[in-house]
Amino acid sequence: MRLRAVFKVSQFRGGAPFVSYKPPVSSQLQSQPNRSSFGIAFDIDGVILQGRAPIEGSSQALRRLYDDSGVLKVPFVFLTNGGGIPESKRALELSQLLGVNISPAQVLQGHSPFRNLLSRYENELIVATGKGDPALVMSEYGFKKVLSIGEYASCFNNIDPVSQYKAWTNDNVFCLSSCLKDLGPNCDVLSERVQAAFVISDPVDWGRDIQVLCDILRSGGLPGRSGGHQPPLYFAADDLEYQAAFPLERLGMGAFRIALESVFNRIHHHPLEYVSFGKPNPFVFDNAEMMLKQLLLLHRDVRGMDDKRYPQSHSFGTLYMVGDNPSVDIKGARQAGHPWFSILTRTGVFKGEDNDSSFPADVVVDTVEEAVDYILSRERS
Ligand SMILES: [Mg+2]
Repeated sequence: MRLRAVFKVSQFRGGAPFVSYKPPVSSQLQSQPNRSSFGIAFDIDGVILQGRAPIEGSSQALRRLYDDSGVLKVPFVFLTNGGGIPESKRALELSQLLGVNISPAQVLQGHSPFRNLLSRYENELIVATGKGDPALVMSEYGFKKVLSIGEYASCFNNIDPVSQYKAWTNDNVFCLSSCLKDLGPNCDVLSERVQAAFVISDPVDWGRDIQVLCDILRSGGLPGRSGGHQPPLYFAADDLEYQAAFPLERLGMGAFRIALESVFNRIHHHPLEYVSFGKPNPFVFDNAEMMLKQLLLLHRDVRGMDDKRYPQSHSFGTLYMVGDNPSVDIKGARQAGHPWFSILTRTGVFKGEDNDSSFPADVVVDTVEEAVDYILSRERS
């Protein structure tokens, strides 16, 4: 299935009443009946996982969304601003960590909308930065001339003046000749301008990446040359902070964007231009709704084309966003408006007693397990 971003600005939804959820005792809950006028989008970091470890109860909560034979009963997706690896690999990882069968179509990462830019950059030289394997992510979307920023930097002698002090880069052997061969015989990295730069996931070497991105962006795409407009710069997300395994929030891609923008604007006469994807942008929620509809239709096909409960033109009554970050997950769901309904957990960025004062959720719960309890009991009533 192919993603399609819908760039639509929706009205901010106001006045949603805050409900303080009291979890029912488990005996009051029964299994979800086979009807589905609702779907769920789960954030991952701080909701499902803490680092690479499942948050207590998250596996059990997800299992309740499948029937006894392991077929998806309630359509759900993971809607994360994280990434750095292809959706297929992430789906496999999540399946192994959580003990349920996750398909690649259920994994919407911050960089997933980048595939919509394929027609523009398919055969252009682009660079990708971030943890994981950013060049592989873009290659799997179909981009044919992509280098990671590490590979790109290693084509230019001394572009990083402190590289000799970085033991990890000295140990890291790039297959540069093979990467360059993949770009095709007519591509010369030292003379061809980069047409766009992509920040796929949290950068690992901020110093090098800020330096090299500034070199690319202020030279019109070729370090050391002058002239030309700044090539487009795309961020997969703009999270200032996120919850990882450390007890305190960690600086995210938004923090890197601020650092890059601050430096660039001091050394260049035009301010940095960029586009950020990821939550809380409303189009991400529109995209998630479209994917959930596709999952529902797939579900209908599995159950049989004559099943009248799953018409082609299905519209969801409610779509639940379960997240831990008020300024990302809850703000996004509120901005997207109907049919989105926001549920805030206390297992990640948000740790408050009541509700967030800036971006209050429709419901606040302790864990994702309570969130699923709430959703299933609400949909039964
Ligand atoms: Mg999170």
